[in-house]
Amino acid sequence: MTELPLLCPGCATAHPLSERFCRRCGMPLVFAGVDSESPVTERHARARKIRPEYARGPLVRAGAARNQAEAELIQGMLLEEGIPSLLKRTRGFDVPDFLAAGPRDVLVPQSGVATARELLAVPDAAAEAEAPPRPAPLRLIAALLAGVALAGALAWVVTNVT
Ligand SMILES: [Zn+2]
Repeated sequence: MTELPLLCPGCATAHPLSERFCRRCGMPLVFAGVDSESPVTERHARARKIRPEYARGPLVRAGAARNQAEAELIQGMLLEEGIPSLLKRTRGFDVPDFLAAGPRDVLVPQSGVATARELLAVPDAAAEAEAPPRPAPLRLIAALLAGVALAGALAWVVTNVT
């Protein structure tokens, strides 16, 4: 068992288990020994999904989300394709009132940005510009609607039971 089991997929700096992101470049860390042992933690399972060819280069903005929940949904979609990502509060919204809410930028390594934008259906030119968050792609909206419908059903149950 090594003291620094986590590696940055961007710059290959080793980190202790207490770190989640690279101190140098902010990339989500992956387990160094990707070997035959079965995934033991969720983080380990996530790390295993990351494809090295999508984890190279500086972080680039691949898209935007309207809030943290939507951003995490996007992160999950990207990870399914092997693309690691980092969420950052959109500039101008990084004040305390917006810590929980507010739009997020989704950053991915340079080598994964083309695939990420394809996945998120963001036109390259539009994503390059510092544009305000745009409507999410249909796939995402469908997933969000499913969540809203569930929340609505729960609210209905709560109000009608009490
Ligand atoms: Zn790094």
